[in-house]
Amino acid sequence: MSIDVVRSEDTWKVIRVRVGPYDNNVYVVKEERSGKAILVDAAFDPQEILSALGGFQLQAIFLTHAHPDHIQALEFLRRRTGCALGIHPEEPGTQELAPTIFIAEGYQFSLGSLTLRFLHTPGHTPGSVSIVLGSQICFCGDTLFPGGPGRTWTPEGFRDIIKSIREKLLTLPDDLLLLPGHGPGIKVRDSRAEYEAFAAKGIPEGIWGEIRWDRPLDRSPSFRDGCT
Ligand SMILES: [Zn+2]
Ligand SMILES: [Zn+2]
Repeated sequence: MSIDVVRSEDTWKVIRVRVGPYDNNVYVVKEERSGKAILVDAAFDPQEILSALGGFQLQAIFLTHAHPDHIQALEFLRRRTGCALGIHPEEPGTQELAPTIFIAEGYQFSLGSLTLRFLHTPGHTPGSVSIVLGSQICFCGDTLFPGGPGRTWTPEGFRDIIKSIREKLLTLPDDLLLLPGHGPGIKVRDSRAEYEAFAAKGIPEGIWGEIRWDRPLDRSPSFRDGCT
């Protein structure tokens, strides 16, 4: 478990809380003037997440997707804070989680002076979303990591995730920082260079699984194998 400040501006901050056995990231976005905050995912260790919130009022938890490793602290935090819960309606398991906000492509959420903009980025799961904060940050869940896309389970899933990455995430500004659901982030410029080198060699037909941009046919395990 560790807490660090990923970005600090005059009126807002993004804090990363690293929790659980799969090095999940929970991001806290704090808007200083209003004293309000939101969470991106609610992986594990609710007490640590609460301490990262400090005295800020939690408005909502937004799930990038509903895999078990991203929601273990969800019920505790909702009960404790009474915050809203936002999920894309196509995400499996959505009904059971009883969201109060249904996220669709282009949905916007105001947090004090900040606006969060939502992109539907399916592939890792049908209801995966990415959350854009100005021209600086995008929380991309398990859709894109340094070195490769998130895990997929079928060739169709892989085609979907590539489309989400190519048409949505990699069209964001060059200097924008992509912050994934596990591990470190990467700038759009660097991620685009990785993808373009991969695509230039020709994308092998029918692939899926744990794909790395530089070794698309190598199925050796990585830390992401822990993430279901
Ligand atoms: Zn996942
Ligand atoms: Zn995950």
